[in-house]
Amino acid sequence: MQNKIVQKTDPVLRRRAEEIPPDQIKSRKIKDIIHKMSSALRASSNGIGLAAPQIGIPLAIFMVSEEAIAVKKEPDITYNEEEKEKQRKIWKHFVFINPRLIKSSRKKELLPEGCLSVDGIFGQVRRAKQVTVEALDENGKKLRVGASGLFAQVLQHETDHLNGVLFIDKAENLEKLPNE
Ligand code: ZN
Repeated sequence: MQNKIVQKTDPVLRRRAEEIPPDQIKSRKIKDIIHKMSSALRASSNGIGLAAPQIGIPLAIFMVSEEAIAVKKEPDITYNEEEKEKQRKIWKHFVFINPRLIKSSRKKELLPEGCLSVDGIFGQVRRAKQVTVEALDENGKKLRVGASGLFAQVLQHETDHLNGVLFIDKAENLEKLPNE
C-alpha cells in the first residue's frame, strides 16, 4: 500500500527531503502525491499534519489540516468521536511545498506532541510560540504564513520531518502508551 504511513525506523524519515522545481508543482506526479498524502491524513485517527516522507516519498511537501487552525480559534471546542469523524472528512488540507521557516519567536513553550510515524509514543517538545513559514502552494503560488498556537507547533513538527528530524529526537518525558 503506497499511502501507508511509514514508521520511525524507515530510513526515508531520516533523509533531507528534496525540493521540487517550481515548474513541476502542477505535474500529475506531484498532484498524485498530494492526493495520497491527503487520503493518508484523512485515514489517520488523530493526525493534523503530514509530510511526504511519512508516506515514503523524500520530497519537500507537507500539509496541515484546517483542524490545527480551528482548534486555535476555538480552544474550548470539543468533539465527540462521531463529530470528529465527520469533521475529518471536510477539513481542508493546506499544502506547503519547499517550505522554509523564516522566523521563530524567542518565546518557547513545552508542548505535548506525538507523530503518526512514531506510533504510541508521546512526549513534550520545546517549540517556538510563533513562526513564519514561506512556501509554495499546490498551484505554485508563494505563501507566507504567520502562525501561533497549535498551528505553529505543527509547522515546526512538519518542517523537522523534511530535515530528517523526528520529535523523539528533541522530546522530554517520552511516554509509551500502554497497548489496549
Ligand atoms: Zn510527525
